[in-house]
Amino acid sequence: MPAPIPLVSRMSDDEERLWLDALSKAAPKETIISSRQLSANERAGAEIAIVADPDPANLREMPSLKWVHSLWAGVEKLVMELGEGAPPIVRMVDPSMSQTMAEAVLAWTYYLHRDMPFYARSQHERAWRPRPYRRPEQVNVGLLGLGELGAAAARRLCQARFNVIGWSRTPKSINGVTAFHGAEGLPHVLRQSDILVCLMPLTPSTAGLLNAERLALLPKGANVINFARGPIIVTQDLLAALDAGDIDHAVLDVFDAEPLPEDSPLWGHPKVTVLPHISAPTDQDTASQIVAKNIACYRETGAPPATVNTARGY
Ligand code: NAP
Repeated sequence: MPAPIPLVSRMSDDEERLWLDALSKAAPKETIISSRQLSANERAGAEIAIVADPDPANLREMPSLKWVHSLWAGVEKLVMELGEGAPPIVRMVDPSMSQTMAEAVLAWTYYLHRDMPFYARSQHERAWRPRPYRRPEQVNVGLLGLGELGAAAARRLCQARFNVIGWSRTPKSINGVTAFHGAEGLPHVLRQSDILVCLMPLTPSTAGLLNAERLALLPKGANVINFARGPIIVTQDLLAALDAGDIDHAVLDVFDAEPLPEDSPLWGHPKVTVLPHISAPTDQDTASQIVAKNIACYRETGAPPATVNTARGY
């Protein structure tokens, strides 16, 4: 009989209960229970834990852990808080989430491509100001990050006939996408991006990546979408570029602090669309099935699924 699998989180009891129901339904052969209900012995014997923003102190009470499964796709906080000597981390890779993100990228790309922020302002000012139409293939969409989410978004944008340029750390080949990589590839992508979409993890190499100097490489009047993590873009530098008219509009789903503080200048900025971190929420059912599949595979083979490279940060 395998040891019970604790769910370690800082969620409320009610939120945990919903997750426990979904996880137990997806993995009926496993005993998955809240870490709050485990005895000290059970904690000591746990081999796998499912985590969602866990208190690191709780995981330290589980010295037998072989690996932990994060319910979230972004793991920068987990990597930072657990530090060295932490058990290997498996992050959420859910094809359903990739499709949700691809849909969000396409939706907000259309929002910018069809000048919706401009026409909303025009209506507010009772001004009849038609702008010329550009076909999608005349619009360059630069995608920073071509991983699980970025690659799905790239494919969806290509289907919609946008001209997609991508950037990653290592070389990538995606049908229809002009791909660049590494430090020398970034300026090429920035210089050509009418709409720049950020889908990279937050790591020591990507924090503050989009600063004044790099934002200045974008074509005048470019638009920016950040669906990754707030600190990848330097907010003050973005605001300065918007105020100077160098960048036309920014759609932001992620911020340095979340929820976005009430006094943030982003809330009231006419060239900023603020979203409450909703571009690709974790789906409890599909995510639970992914966790169940990874655990079943581990039970069968004894090998944990692919884990996060903590030195690299993703
Ligand atoms: P992923 O599969 O790990 O892909 C990351 C991509 O970024 C890869 O293409 C990687 O390059 C590239 N990259 C990483 N560091 C780089 C660097 N220094 N220079 C250039 N490229 C770099 O991650 P994912 O699943 O697509 O998720 C991306 C991020 O989206 C997550 O980390 C999370 O923060 C965010 N997210 C947001 C939401 C939301 O609702 N807003 C939802 C889910 C996730 P290689 O391919 O060469 O490794």
